[in-house]
Amino acid sequence: MRGVLVTGGSRGIGRAVALAFAEGGDRVALQYAARRSDAEETLRRMPGEGHVLLRADLGEPDAAERLVTEAVNALDVVDVLVNNAAVGPTAETRHRIPDTPLADWQRIWRRMVQVNLLGAADLSWAVARHLIDRGAGGAIVNIGSRGAFRGEPDFPAYGATKAALHALGQSLSVALAPHGIAVTSVAPGFVATERQAARLSGPEGDRLRGESPFGRVGTPAEIAATVHFLASSAAAWASGTVVDLNGASYLRT
Ligand code: NAD
Repeated sequence: MRGVLVTGGSRGIGRAVALAFAEGGDRVALQYAARRSDAEETLRRMPGEGHVLLRADLGEPDAAERLVTEAVNALDVVDVLVNNAAVGPTAETRHRIPDTPLADWQRIWRRMVQVNLLGAADLSWAVARHLIDRGAGGAIVNIGSRGAFRGEPDFPAYGATKAALHALGQSLSVALAPHGIAVTSVAPGFVATERQAARLSGPEGDRLRGESPFGRVGTPAEIAATVHFLASSAAAWASGTVVDLNGASYLRT
């Protein structure tokens, strides 16, 4: 039975990822930032025993190392890290240059870099060191974004941090392969999570569904199924990849 640390697991893609690992027989440490009752609901839905909730604000520089220590204490081992937590695109985090004052621009950029990139980098360091110290192999899977490739004109810091996350994963896949640690990323297109519900039910909904020739957006379970596979030993040879999960809505060349 593996120990799996999933960040941002209170709802959305993180919840679906946590459920996929629990359904596969793994024990999960689920990090949440603020929504305790949502995180408890995820915990209630997870089959199996020994799962734990851990609170951490990955915007704090020391949070990642502390979180991994708490996860190891609770699960005995951490074999898999899923970097899912992120400050995502919302009305509050929009930062178009023409209508964003510099102070807001700087605040949003720094928050996104801290959580989406530095949080994931520090967690990767701590989990990799734990695996290397144990002499065990393992897997790190990053939740990136289609926006890293297609551009995020209203949220450039989001697109930049996701591109950096993909690049971080590719560098670490080379650095950590000699230790038996596989590192991959997924780049989802639009996914129907709670955060996106208002946009999908509003006037933009049909346009967003129309981005994919399937005529719909993705589901959290579809993202979770690929993450679960990428973290398996059967997928070790995929290390270094960035998997597009966007329903053919954007084709990279
Ligand atoms: P979400 O907002 O529900 O999930 C983000 C999670 O990150 C939340 O659980 C939140 O608590 C956590 N988080 C935010 N700030 C944090 C902080 N400072 N410290 C710790 N945790 C923090 O949204 P989601 O749609 O489920 O997104 C999950 C992941 O998928 C994100 O990385 C997002 O960028 C990515 N993604 C989502 C979509 C989509 O359309 N939903 C598309 C591409 C990529």
